Amino acid sequence: MEEKLKILVVDDDQVDRKAMRHTLTKPGLEMELFEVNDSNSALAAFGDNSYDCVFLDYRLLQGDGLSLIQKLRSREIKVPLVVLTDREEEQKVVEWMEAGATDYIYKSWLSSDILVKVLRNAIRVHKAEMHVAWKNQQLQENKEQLTRKNQEIEAQKQQIEEQKLKLNEAARIKSQFQATVSHELRTPMNAIIGFAQLLLRPKTGELSHPQKDMVERILKNSKNLLMLLNEILDFSKLEAGGLDIKPEIFDLVKVINATIAEMQSLAEKKNLTLLLKNELSNYIVFNDPTRVRQVLTNLLSNAIKFTESGGVAVEVKELPGSRVAISVCDTGIGIAPTDIKYIFQPFRQVDQSTTRKYSGTGLGLPVVNALVQKMGGKITVESKLGEGSMFRIELPRQISSLIQSGGEEKSKDHTDWVKKNHHSHHIPLLAQEGRLR
Ligand code: ADP
Repeated sequence: MEEKLKILVVDDDQVDRKAMRHTLTKPGLEMELFEVNDSNSALAAFGDNSYDCVFLDYRLLQGDGLSLIQKLRSREIKVPLVVLTDREEEQKVVEWMEAGATDYIYKSWLSSDILVKVLRNAIRVHKAEMHVAWKNQQLQENKEQLTRKNQEIEAQKQQIEEQKLKLNEAARIKSQFQATVSHELRTPMNAIIGFAQLLLRPKTGELSHPQKDMVERILKNSKNLLMLLNEILDFSKLEAGGLDIKPEIFDLVKVINATIAEMQSLAEKKNLTLLLKNELSNYIVFNDPTRVRQVLTNLLSNAIKFTESGGVAVEVKELPGSRVAISVCDTGIGIAPTDIKYIFQPFRQVDQSTTRKYSGTGLGLPVVNALVQKMGGKITVESKLGEGSMFRIELPRQISSLIQSGGEEKSKDHTDWVKKNHHSHHIPLLAQEGRLR
């Protein structure tokens, strides 16, 4: 023990105090010894001083003497307390220790060696206790900090939740607004298309060549606008969760042929071939024919739009697990691998410039993707820049009742109907061979 220890001896017996002083100073310990003869003086001694160890005579702990230890402890006086006792008092030891004493020593055993050992031990135990207390305090503080942090996180979580609700509401209102606007624009647009078509009928009256040309332009542009409006409308419905699938039994090849026939003039205008390669044995499926047609129209109009020479082919074939695959292949500009991951995101176009060659909203593929998923299928794309692209959709022959969004039809099983009508619908093909790559 290098530093000078401050020791307080509390004993009402002068002879005992002397004996303690003698025993403690004998080993040549560096220490300052203080002596008091009663409990009150002991408490007063702690007023201005701190000690490294206190030796307490057991007699001061008799009667309400125990309260000296309790008082010291309750005043948060953290000091090792060693009780000097007689052997006969052994049974009291537990009581003293419980009250806050650090150790005890029999007066009859008082020797310098033992006293130094007890003193060192008491100081060591006390230091360890202090360390534990300090650690406990730190733990308590950490716990409180954690509790505060948890409360803050909880409050933030609540804030985020509220903001999420507000955002959802804003998104819902935005989608509703988009849907309303698109709907309001579609009605007059249909009227323009209808009247332009009427004007072009010979029955309506002969138009001069420039007049006919102008009406045809009105018709073409109105149709384009209508298509864009439909895309926006579908996209808003999709965002608002309102794109529904209405499954029914239908002839898939018939629908594909009708869609191809509709797109034929567009392909011809660009001198592109548009062919169907049909390898399907059973044409009957139970899914949504309108949505299948919409998906195909979208993929075909993209294929034609992004192809300058060559052609577009639609390939249909059976897949294991009662699924069918429809691929739309083109010999167009293709898509770079870095762009391909973005094309299904809303408003993403490979060419985002205002001077871009190809018009469009960038909403077609996100809608297609969502529709294909709603129909229980999936879409994949393969493409090579400068060579062409292939969009491939896989659809279940019979949409599962889990996927359907509503209606009585859900529980019906159409497997038998689909099987019975196997081979019964052979539609003349537009072509038997695709000619892509
Ligand atoms: P857009 O209205 O622009 O056609 P889409 O969502 O249908 O929007 O397509 C997103 C983008 O994906 C297109 O702008 C185009 O860059 C690319 N893309 C789609 N189909 C093809 C294709 N067949 N060939 C090349 N690029 C394509």
